[in-house]
Amino acid sequence: MNATTDFRERATAALRRCGADPAGPAGPADGDLVVTTPIDGSEIGRIRSHSPAGSDAAITTAARTFETWRDVPAPVRGRTVRRLGELLVEHKADLAELVTLEAGKIPSEATGEVQEMIDICEFAVGLSRSISGRTMPSERPGHRLMETWHPLGVVGVISAFNFPVAVWSWNTAVALVCGDPVVWKPSETTPLTALACDALLRRAARESGAPDGLHHLLLGDHTVGEALVDDPRVALVSATGSVRMGRVVAPRVAARFGRCLLELGGNNGAIVTPSADLDLTVRAVVFAAAGTAGQRCTTLRRLIVHRSIADDLVDRLAKVYAGLRVGDPFEEGVLVGPLISSRAHEAMRTALDRAQHDGGVLVTGGDRVDGPGDGVYVSPALVRMPTQTDVVREETFAPILYVLTYDDLDEAIALHNAVPQGLSSSIFTLDQREAELFLARSDCGIANVNIGTSGAEIGGAFGGEKETGGGRESGSDSWKAYMRRATNTVNYSTELPLAQGVEFG
Ligand code: NAD
Repeated sequence: MNATTDFRERATAALRRCGADPAGPAGPADGDLVVTTPIDGSEIGRIRSHSPAGSDAAITTAARTFETWRDVPAPVRGRTVRRLGELLVEHKADLAELVTLEAGKIPSEATGEVQEMIDICEFAVGLSRSISGRTMPSERPGHRLMETWHPLGVVGVISAFNFPVAVWSWNTAVALVCGDPVVWKPSETTPLTALACDALLRRAARESGAPDGLHHLLLGDHTVGEALVDDPRVALVSATGSVRMGRVVAPRVAARFGRCLLELGGNNGAIVTPSADLDLTVRAVVFAAAGTAGQRCTTLRRLIVHRSIADDLVDRLAKVYAGLRVGDPFEEGVLVGPLISSRAHEAMRTALDRAQHDGGVLVTGGDRVDGPGDGVYVSPALVRMPTQTDVVREETFAPILYVLTYDDLDEAIALHNAVPQGLSSSIFTLDQREAELFLARSDCGIANVNIGTSGAEIGGAFGGEKETGGGRESGSDSWKAYMRRATNTVNYSTELPLAQGVEFG
């Protein structure tokens, strides 16, 4: 058996174990959507994209299902999500295998991504018994003023290739307990993981007595996603991907007064101050910058180091970078898998050329590394930059870490914030004043102390500011985006006093 057959068979077997038809719901195996693995570029599946009529039918069914699902008590809705969580535990290895095959993540990170799905299901089950509104003091005697939260409607989820399953679960587990059916347009690069998730959720729904039609997949490229963007029956479009995508999607959803939750690109920075624990810093930086081959929205891309320790830190990082094993993610000991495509490699090459043209010095990495078949493998790059030039201010979705130096913390924080994106940030310091100042001033949705920029837990709200789009998903009170808030005033007196003391008649 050659590697190509092996990968295809592994994908097919994992899909079958999850209860999914490897040909997809929309058509036979001779479909137009060719699925390849970035491991060696070989074909691992073929499915048919949804037609406009198929997309319309999915949204119609979801909208109809909303009419019944909204009336199911939230704790009962939670049972479906609890069952999904149990099935995810059972099929953790199968889904992780598909994530490695489709997105190229090393098994430990792929398994971690599935664990994140299990975690959000637990969180959402708890939420199903704790969604609550406030009661505020009314200015009128015999009146009660309160807010109540109600299901919103159909939630459209558009997701990116690099977190092919976790992002779906953050949205779906929470949307379902909030009373909303989901229509999901996964990345065209990762439809097989989507087929597996859809099959598991359908089974969970069946076994927990939930109605059919709670969840639908729309497979295909961005044109298929546009069905969700433009359809007024889709109450919330939760879109994860590039800033480029968000620039198209946001105004179109706004034009029909729909609700948008945007999780777009990041350009994450970390400041390292003279008091930092450098051993810990090196470990955190390497995982954040080189892990997932630099293909996380929270990947560390800018390191802003105090001048007094910059040479030492860069030397240490270069040594660790030199020892990182790059290659087939299924191989024992490999920490850096493939880039998703040759286009990603071209973007990396162009960025490195521009950085060097701007006076940057390539300390290590940036080379193409041998790997199986047509897989695209690169050594993570470390580049010292004299200033934060345009290329540093852009997100290049590949493992490039730019190192800048600073003399004064105010200058470092200003440099940190001087990019268009605002997702994740960190400071490495043992000085409490420095840490607190950074937490107060970082303009990102995520700000950390003595850990890297990537690898968030589900308990907190996830998302970022500025071009990252302003959305919040996952934990904390992110559920509010999936519900409609109503303010209620109840008069239990026999009088009719008007607010603000207004007299009328
Ligand atoms: P992408 O923007 O190319 O595609 C993302 C999704 O959007 C895909 O499903 C795609 O088909 C769809 N899409 C694109 N244009 C569309 C349109 N006009 N209408 C409807 N759908 C459309 O992104 P990608 O290459 O898959 O992923 C990488 C990007 O995603 C990076 O920029 C990364 O930072 C970002 N990302 C952000 C987060 C976050 O939470 N902030 C998480 C993961 C990835």
